[in-house]
Amino acid sequence: MSNATKMVGRSFHVECGLKDKNNFLDGPTVSFDPENWSELKATAHQMVEDMFDYLATVRERPVWQPMPPSVRKNLKESIPNKSIGLKKTYNDFLENVLPYPFGNIHPRFFAWANGTGCPVGVLAELLKAAMNSHVGYPSPMDLIENQVLDWLKEMLDFPMEAGGVLVSGGSKANLVALTVARNSKATCDIKKEGVFGCSKRMMVYTSERAHFSVQRAVEVIGLGGASIRKVKVDRNFKIDTAELSSMIESDLNAGLQPFCIVGNAGTTSTGAIDNLDSMADIAKKYNLWFHIDGAIGAVANISPKVKPLLKGMSRADSIAFDLHKWFQTPYEAGCVFIKDIDKQRETFNWDASYIKKIADRPKMYFSEAGIQLSREFRALKIWMSIRTHGLDKYRALIEQNLNQANYLGSLIDSHPALTLMAPISLSIVCFRFVNPKCSEDELDDINLSIIDSLKQEGIAFISQEIIDGRAVLRVCAINHRSRLEDFKLLVDEIVKSGTLLSTKAT
Ligand SMILES: *Cc1c(COP(=O)(O)O)cnc(C)c1O
Repeated sequence: MSNATKMVGRSFHVECGLKDKNNFLDGPTVSFDPENWSELKATAHQMVEDMFDYLATVRERPVWQPMPPSVRKNLKESIPNKSIGLKKTYNDFLENVLPYPFGNIHPRFFAWANGTGCPVGVLAELLKAAMNSHVGYPSPMDLIENQVLDWLKEMLDFPMEAGGVLVSGGSKANLVALTVARNSKATCDIKKEGVFGCSKRMMVYTSERAHFSVQRAVEVIGLGGASIRKVKVDRNFKIDTAELSSMIESDLNAGLQPFCIVGNAGTTSTGAIDNLDSMADIAKKYNLWFHIDGAIGAVANISPKVKPLLKGMSRADSIAFDLHKWFQTPYEAGCVFIKDIDKQRETFNWDASYIKKIADRPKMYFSEAGIQLSREFRALKIWMSIRTHGLDKYRALIEQNLNQANYLGSLIDSHPALTLMAPISLSIVCFRFVNPKCSEDELDDINLSIIDSLKQEGIAFISQEIIDGRAVLRVCAINHRSRLEDFKLLVDEIVKSGTLLSTKAT
């Protein structure tokens, strides 16, 4: 080292840590690797046995069971300064955690749009965690994520040049897309000035049946909840496009800046798919960003039965969708595509003295595609699952679920105590238990109680929706473990429970 360099150097100053410089070599060496790998492997083999037995026998257990008070007690403890040990910890997991899942891997889980996952995905998670590799560039991890993104673009008919990134789920995907939309359409340098630079309020339009994550994204990106217009739906629960146009017109006249419309490729509520092609026309006419929330339905584009209903989807500027719902990837896995990759990169790019961007750089680093820097190798479970099953199997599953939903519809149609409350769209069925002896208000309570009683008894897990101001039963069939007889049983149990509850009510 030259004297000149030494001059500008700082003296070695220890901010934290041991100050006794003579003691560097003292004390035991700490590592989190086990002292005995064979012992760890034996426990690991046991875990694999247990977990696959657990999956293989899921049908034999209740879909859900209440957690006894002991669990709350057992899981509350002060931080252990000394090792409790892996074996004891695993036993505590077996006793207090494993028996009380949310329920979504069970064949009769039909609530919201929770996915079932798949055993191959479980293995992928193990491999991923063992590698514990950040997805850097260039690397096989990066190649696999890009490969998966390309496959997904092909499935959704999105152009290969589009930007994309795997994220935690639909909520994050909506947030990423709306941030790019905002930055692209702002009339000021919003990345620098924030919304303070805007002379006009920026407005977003979506259907009143849109998922709350769209509204939350608008709030998070600083536009404020009042900047979202909830457009009413038609009798098929699709956005009323005439109303959409007239709201845009009136906001323009009022001096606001409409900048984005959000279409639904399957609402959580009824599975309704908005008329995406008309929405694309409206976006074009008013020069708006067209985003699609396809959390549930976008992947159904691989089914020739659904594809025509999604016409116009590929005209979107961005699309958010989930792999952990209908695509059976274990949590968490969502994805967002932005057609104009430059806009995506400009929104999230960064500059840091501690990271050197290399000359042979990709068009966009994953760290410029969204909000994360350190990222797990999320693509592995999708890549392994698609390769193991083949895309045809996913197509077959989607059609199996559509068929199950229609079968449920036919059971509802032929039962006097049940009435369909919305068109069956994708594989979501909204219906109501009815009884002429009960008032509509009583029926609201009865329907909600049916949901609760099926869950408490561990028979089936369905969710609720409000349609025409009335509580309805909602079944979403995106489960690869469900069989036709599960829907028959569901209907029988709903009628049984509803009948019992109405006797009590009257
Ligand atoms: C589930 C869902 C979301 C949110 O996705 P997460 O993966 O739960 O974050 C967004 N939109 C729709 C339509 C959904 O069904």
